[in-house]
Order: sequence, then C-alpha cells, then structure tokens
Amino acid sequence: MTDTPPVSGPPAPLIDTHAHLDEEAFDADRAEVIGRALAAGIVRIVTIGTTADSSRRAVEIAATFPGVFAAVGIQPNYAAQAKAGDWETIEELAAGPRVVAIGETGLDRYWDYAPFDVQIDYFQRHIALSQRLKRPFVVHCRDAEAETIVELKLAASRGPLAGVMHSFTGSLETARECVALGLYISFAGMVTYKKSHDLRAVVKELPLDRILVETDSPYLAPQPVRGKRNEPAFVRMTAGILAELAGVDQQEFARQTTANACRLFGLSLDEPVAVTPAAGGADGV
Ligand SMILES: [Zn+2]
Repeated sequence: MTDTPPVSGPPAPLIDTHAHLDEEAFDADRAEVIGRALAAGIVRIVTIGTTADSSRRAVEIAATFPGVFAAVGIQPNYAAQAKAGDWETIEELAAGPRVVAIGETGLDRYWDYAPFDVQIDYFQRHIALSQRLKRPFVVHCRDAEAETIVELKLAASRGPLAGVMHSFTGSLETARECVALGLYISFAGMVTYKKSHDLRAVVKELPLDRILVETDSPYLAPQPVRGKRNEPAFVRMTAGILAELAGVDQQEFARQTTANACRLFGLSLDEPVAVTPAAGGADGV
C-alpha cells in the first residue's frame, strides 16, 4: 500500500443499512438513539420491518426522523403468522416515498417458526415485488445457504436482482455466488466476535464495492459492547474491524461502503439532517 495521509477531521459518514428502530427496545428513547447516531456521523439508517405491523411502524419512523428510511416486508420467521391482507399491506407500503427496500425476507432453517414452503413462497413474493418496483430486497439467511442460492437463481431467471445478504455469516463460496447474482454482502456485529475467524476470512476476499455495514440493532452488538442493547451509533465499531480486514483505512472504508449503500438503496446524502428530529415528518405520519 502507498503511504496514506494521517486521518484528520471528522469521521467519514457511515450508513447503518439494517436496524430495527421500531422494536420495543427503543420505545423509551428512540429520538435520542437516532440523535446519537447522527452525532456520530451515521448519516442514514435503514429501519427494517419484519411483519405488516412492524413495517407500518418502520414507515412512520422514517417519515418522522430525517435520515431514516424504511424497508418493508415479512421476515421468514413471521411468515406463518401473516394474516389475510398482510401481504397487500406490504405491497401498499412498498410504494411509499421513504421506502428504499423490500424485506427483510429470506429463509431460516435454524428456527422452526414457519414451514419451509411458506418461507419460500414469501421469499419469492418479496423478490418479485422488488423486481416490479425496482427497489432492492433484503435477505435474512440462517442455516439455509444452499436453499437461498437456489431461490435467488430462480428469481434471477425472471429478471435482474438487486439486494443485500444482511448480517452475512455464510461461506466465501456463498458470498461469491451472491455477488455474482448482483447482491451486496452486509456484515453486522458478529464479525467482531472472537470466534468469527471464518467470517473475517470471508471479508478479506470480497470486493470492497460490494460490502455494506449494519448493526441489526437492537441485536448483535459488536464486541466492545457485546451483550448490551445495540444501536446505530455502534456501527462505527463494526466498520473499524471491517476496514482492517479489507486493508483500507477507516475513512476510505466509510467512503466506499457509504457509496455502496447509496447506490443500492438509491439514497442521496444531499438531504440535510438535523441532529434533533424535525417536527412533523415530511410525509406526515
Ligand atoms: Zn434484521
């Protein structure tokens, strides 16, 4: 590597591409949590829905807080509980102005909350909606890598894919297949954990222009705060480890991954963000 000038000035902006700001864990201090993130240079947060109700809350939060955008979907572990009309709610919400992605969706064989054929049905619906609306999808994949690749390939036969493998914990082979299919790979706090040697090895092999960083907060707090409630401001800790693995300095890593997130989610950094929430969100809650 060539000599890099010493890092100076404020830390480069980062985007937390996956948080669950609607969760009860944030009910008492949501505005403070978002304020802390903005103050730490986390300039955009994508808050992710997991059910029709949670997706509606995500859209409301995005409308209330500048800098926050929403993804709407039914997470695979909730697929069996979806009521009549819930999918139609997702389709309606998906067209909203502050909705930048469809999901989270995907496949999960770790928990046994929804029959696998139901999960597959919802996974394909989300991807088809993403293809129709030209908005990317967000994939949750747990103990179902091979099955996820099969479904992604099937969907790719219908049209191009744009999406992200969120909180990735899979193999290098899976990551490469996903990248080849047009997806980004996002890493959460897990990559900072002591035992995650294999996952760190994966990061080293991936092209920097396909990497994203996320908290998955309130879950998966990174190593220094592991076990505590996670929040978007902590994404910088994970980004620090990822930068080291990618072999670039933190400013360069932030610049690249923020550009990646803007490209995938169609975000712009032009919209000014106040550190305190604006009164009455732009889209009216
Ligand atoms: Zn999530």
